[in-house]
Amino acid sequence: MNDADCCKVGTLIDDYDLDSPRPADDSLDDYLLSRWLGDDDTQSVGYRTLTEWFNKRLLKRAYDRSGRNAMGNRLESDFEALTDDGLVKMDTIDDLEADGIDAEALLDDMISWSTMRNHLNECLGEEKEKKEASTNWELTSVDIACDRTKQKVESAVNSLMSKGKIDEDEDVDVEIKVQLCCGQCPTRVPFDVAMNRGYVCADHRSEAVEDEAVIQVNDTSSEETFYWATSVPRQQMPSFGV
Ligand SMILES: [Zn+2]
Ligand SMILES: [Zn+2]
Repeated sequence: MNDADCCKVGTLIDDYDLDSPRPADDSLDDYLLSRWLGDDDTQSVGYRTLTEWFNKRLLKRAYDRSGRNAMGNRLESDFEALTDDGLVKMDTIDDLEADGIDAEALLDDMISWSTMRNHLNECLGEEKEKKEASTNWELTSVDIACDRTKQKVESAVNSLMSKGKIDEDEDVDVEIKVQLCCGQCPTRVPFDVAMNRGYVCADHRSEAVEDEAVIQVNDTSSEETFYWATSVPRQQMPSFGV
């Protein structure tokens, strides 16, 4: 691609002389597209994952150029400190600068996920809108439902307190947890756990989908029941093995 047609990402790929970590790819852009869209070797990932990966490559390149030792998980912990805005950020910047790395400039070079999105969609002209949009729609919908439920329960709890049915002086928090239940046994797992591992019950998941890390939470024909956990005091919240 002509550099003039690209964004900050293209400039950085040139400036930092970045290649794909896979020899089979022609360029870093090929690699980014493969990971984003998914291929035989790799499951598809989102903008944020790619952005973090890209920014870590910038840091790694700065290490290589300055000869900074990257033993252990130093790169990971430096990256975390730099991007976290925590107390150790300034220390880390000083530490990198002592090794000859212009950490402030490096931070300026690091991209946001919207830059990565723009690069993939506009510069490279690829689209994955449908897939990302549908995943986001489902997760957003669950978040909204939890927020609403929490608000309703909180106002009910406040009312019960003012009526003296619950001790008014107690510091009470409401926690809403969504769980997915197996329709054939008592197994139940938190929603996010099911999302991460791609199934609800190891014993009763369909063999046909065994290799697919996909769960259709809005599919009413599936075995899983989708329900809102009722609010109970935290100390009574059942805990489940993950
Ligand atoms: Zn670009
Ligand atoms: Zn089961």
